Amino acid sequence: MTLRDIMMYIESEYKVINHTPCELCGGEYLTEDIQVAFIDDVPYDLCACICQNCGHEKIFEFSAPFIEQKQSNKLKKNLN
Ligand SMILES: [Zn+2]
Repeated sequence: MTLRDIMMYIESEYKVINHTPCELCGGEYLTEDIQVAFIDDVPYDLCACICQNCGHEKIFEFSAPFIEQKQSNKLKKNLN
């Protein structure tokens, strides 16, 4: 996958987050932080989000099949 594919993938993750209402108040989540984690050698995007309205925190997990171990450092740099 190219970096462009990866960015499109991440955009679709943002769409999921934007379309998920807060489970407490129905407000909108804001993405605070994105981390890449490897669980059993499977890469995941972990998006830490916070409700704009009530401050409720939620972690969104997306499997990230496009990320290879050596790519993840590069990706992190681009996000920071
Ligand atoms: Zn809320």
